[in-house]
Amino acid sequence: MNAGTPLLQVKQLRKYFPVFSQGFLRRQIGLIKAVDDVSFDLMPGETLGLVGESGCGKTTTGRAILRALDPTAGEVLFQDGDQTVDLTRLAASQLKPLRTKMQMIFQDPFASLNPRMTVGDIVGEPLVIHKLASGSESEDRVAAMLQKVGLMPEHRTRYPHAFSGGQRQRIGIARALIMQPSLVVCDEAVSALDVSVQAQVINLLQDLQQELGLTYLFIAHDLSVVRHICDRVAVMYVGKIAELSETASLFSDPKHPYTQALLAAVPNPDPDVAMDATLSGEVADPGNPPPGCSFHPRCAECMVQCKEDMPQQVELSENHRVWCHLYGN
Ligand code: SF4
Repeated sequence: MNAGTPLLQVKQLRKYFPVFSQGFLRRQIGLIKAVDDVSFDLMPGETLGLVGESGCGKTTTGRAILRALDPTAGEVLFQDGDQTVDLTRLAASQLKPLRTKMQMIFQDPFASLNPRMTVGDIVGEPLVIHKLASGSESEDRVAAMLQKVGLMPEHRTRYPHAFSGGQRQRIGIARALIMQPSLVVCDEAVSALDVSVQAQVINLLQDLQQELGLTYLFIAHDLSVVRHICDRVAVMYVGKIAELSETASLFSDPKHPYTQALLAAVPNPDPDVAMDATLSGEVADPGNPPPGCSFHPRCAECMVQCKEDMPQQVELSENHRVWCHLYGN
């Protein structure tokens, strides 16, 4: 793979869910546009954050990329060695070998591990499913992976209930990484953990990225976590990207009013600094979004044009794009 080739190119990705009427006939009466025309690249070794309020479509985007959900439209181009494959076009049988290269770390370490399986079986199961190793080779790989994530090889005979939340998340990470994927989608991977444990797991994810050359799509709602771990950040609102930028410039000079409001709402540890509650109102309904810019009912900068026209992408610099009528022409 050329160093300048993205590992992942997401182009005009859409995921719509039909809404049906109640009753016997169950006619389709609407569409929820959970992901609506989302495009971005992800370079090898990079961490891209996807942030936004609950229901903005960030998790659905991650799932549609990995084909845990079938996209409604768009392309997801994955670089598999020298080959570029469009994941959206593959049949299940063609997708299966690629699953080893794309993995997901889930939010809830309590719910994502089978309580009836030992840790060794949980972590080693993907090797069995994909026929990558068995017997002593599989055991050795599981033991090595447990050590890599900060657990001990002897932990493999225990069950998930014997572990703390942070340790369970380490087990989930070990399971995701045992097949040596290149792309890992971290879906709120540290959101369910205590703050001190969060820091440990974030450091672990960063160390593993360095060691194994991983590329992360990091889905989160906590902006301080995103600031710490991500190279670039895409801010989503009602199924669309509102702003996409390198992390430093997004935090130092946010352009989109929604990004500005999200950042202003982050609690400041200094008790003398008042919180700016500029983000008022409810998130728009993706089944019935407002016309024009879907943020306009909550936007302090709203203009007449915002209520009529959907904003298009404006490139502010090579690594900073915004979708807002305040910019461009
Ligand atoms: Fe606000 Fe208009 Fe920009 Fe939307 S397009 S964020 S309503 S200024």
